[in-house]
This record gives sequence, structure tokens and C-alpha cells, in this order.
Amino acid sequence: MTDAVAEAPKASINTPAVIMFSISTVGALTVLPWYAWSHHLGAGPWIFFAFTMWATGLSITAGYHRLWSHRAYEAHWTLRLFYMLFGAMSLQNSTLIWASMHRVHHKNVDDIDNDPYSIKRGFWYAHMGWMLRNYPSSALDFSNARDLQQDPLVAFQHRHYLGLALGMNIAFPALVGAAFDDPWGFMLIGGLLRLVVNHHLTFFINSLAHYWGRRPYTADNTARDNDIIALFTYGEGYHNFHHLFQWDYRNGVRWWQFDPTKWWIAGWSAVGVTRGLRRVPEFKIQRAMLQRQFERTQEKLRACSHPGRLAELQKLFEHEMEAFSVTLNEWKKLQAERIDAARKQIAGQWEHSEARRRFQALEHSLRLQRRRVRLLRLQTA
Ligand SMILES: [Zn+2]
Ligand SMILES: [Zn+2]
Repeated sequence: MTDAVAEAPKASINTPAVIMFSISTVGALTVLPWYAWSHHLGAGPWIFFAFTMWATGLSITAGYHRLWSHRAYEAHWTLRLFYMLFGAMSLQNSTLIWASMHRVHHKNVDDIDNDPYSIKRGFWYAHMGWMLRNYPSSALDFSNARDLQQDPLVAFQHRHYLGLALGMNIAFPALVGAAFDDPWGFMLIGGLLRLVVNHHLTFFINSLAHYWGRRPYTADNTARDNDIIALFTYGEGYHNFHHLFQWDYRNGVRWWQFDPTKWWIAGWSAVGVTRGLRRVPEFKIQRAMLQRQFERTQEKLRACSHPGRLAELQKLFEHEMEAFSVTLNEWKKLQAERIDAARKQIAGQWEHSEARRRFQALEHSLRLQRRRVRLLRLQTA
């Protein structure tokens, strides 16, 4: 337990959450093994488990998170209906509450008093502890979610959350199971086991993804990029990128980074179900990564113990810093030209002119420079 947790005011127990987590955890550890041992479990409940894991997981990452919390794209009402139903099945509160708190998390990330699941209050607190008591940092205030209150599906789900959550977790698996002559098997595997596994996988985004991994884009907060975490969080393991560029529909920004949520959103855009997918310009991504390289190199230079070599490396470092500022100025000039062209309503002409080539050349020069600065940092070792 950290000092920060010890000093936190003792908040009252959040009884409904404690009951829900206790029943689901104890049930998954006792009733489920007993049932599996005393009954024959066919493939049906496991296929249903795979389906509900996928549907509830994506409803949280693509729906609650990237669509509703961050407005990273727009979705047809049929897809929003899917997110609304399976989001309720994931038992992580209504979209409105979840998204409002998540926006507070981004705004006050790592703040002990104001981030609802601040990692600075310890791993357990960020993972689950924050839900077990009525902490002041979790107080509801929908003033940051007025846009969501206008969405009829979000408003409906918020009004009827309990009925939807019970219906999706009990009635739905029981009905599907009854059709396959195994309602208890479907309820225990696709309902209960899926609930517990899915809970912890998504909770890892608040705990592990703020704890373990690298910080290639920003060191201003604790969020990390981690390929392993991405494997079991539906692609949300690229959390360092996400905290800097939260409106981008991608978390794993490179095509090879495992981010099924991004592929799901992009896949639906091919048939018009999603649209308006927002992407951060590549230049800004390269700029952030290069700035991080500069920071890390500067730390190494400060620790360098060879005075002769240090002077030489310092000179190279300053030269790179100057080159970086020249590139940034050129980019600002190009941006100003683009805005001017838009004002004169000749944006189309301008985009097809030399400008696109000049933008790409600037991006390329940042990439090359990042490699040079990395080599420079390695020489300081
Ligand atoms: Zn976070
Ligand atoms: Zn987020």
C-alpha cells in the first residue's frame, strides 16, 4: 500500500459493486468447477463463451471507449445498438457513467485526488479497488458528457441499465442454452466465466497499461505501450499512444500492431456502417517520437562520464536540435499555407500541388532524424 492510499479519506463501501464482484468471483471459483466436474460440457457453451467474450470486449473498447468516450468515429445506429446491449452485458456500468468517468481519467490522468482510477494510488486501486468504495474521485458529474445524453440509445441504456444488464447476463444465456438443451452450462460458461474473465481483461487497461511497458510518445503520464497487453485487451495495450492522441480511432497506430478494435472499426467503414474515422497526422506522431528521443538522449548525456567524448556528443546533439527546429518551422509554414488555401476555397488545388510532396518530405526527414538521434543516444552508453 502506498502512502498516498494510506492518506486517502476512508470512503464508504460501494455495496452493489462489492456484492456483484463477490458473487461473480466466488461463483466462478466454486459453482463452475463443480458443474464442469459433475456434468458433461459440450462444445456449445464454449462457442457461446468465445462469442460473448468477443461481443462484450469490443462493445467496451470500440463502443464505450473509442466511439462514445472519445468520438474517434461515427457509427450507424445498428452498431450502436449492438454496443449498447453487449456493453450492458459486460457489467461495467452504463455508457454514460463509464464514458463520463473515462473523460475525467484523461483530463486528470495520474492525479491522486481527481483521476478516478489513478495508478498513483497503487496497482490494486487502479485495477478494481476504485470501484469497491464510494471515493470522491468517482462522484458522478455528467457536465462533460452532454453530447452523450443526446444519443437516444445511450439515454435508454442509462435509464434501463439494471433490466438490460440482468436480461443480457441471465435471460440471454439461459434462452440460447435452452435451445441447445444446456441452459446452466451456457449461463455458467458464457454468462459467469465470461463476465469474470472479461472484467479483469478490461481492468488491466487501467492498471497494467499504466504500469508495464515503454513510453515512445510521451513521458508526461504513466500510460504505457505494451504488445503483450495488447494481445489480451483487444488492442488497448498501446496506451501511451492513446493518452497523447486520444481522438485517433487506432491505439496500435502501425499496421502490424495487434489492435483488433481498430480493424473492426476500419472493416465496418468499408461498408458504410462506421465513418468519419479520425487519424492523427503522421507528422505529429513522428514529432512526438522524436521529442521523446531527444529527452532520452539528454538524460544519457547528463549521465555521461567521459568529458572528452561528452563535448563531441553534445555538439552533435545541439546540431540535431537545430535541424529539428528548422523542420518544425517549415511544417508550421506549410500548415499556414493550407489554412490560407482553405480560406480562399482552393484547398483541393492546393492539396494536389507540391504541398503534399513537401509534407511527406518533412515526415521523412523526421523519421531519418529519429534514427540519427537514437544512434547518438546509443553512443553515450
Ligand atoms: Zn489510461
Ligand atoms: Zn481513453
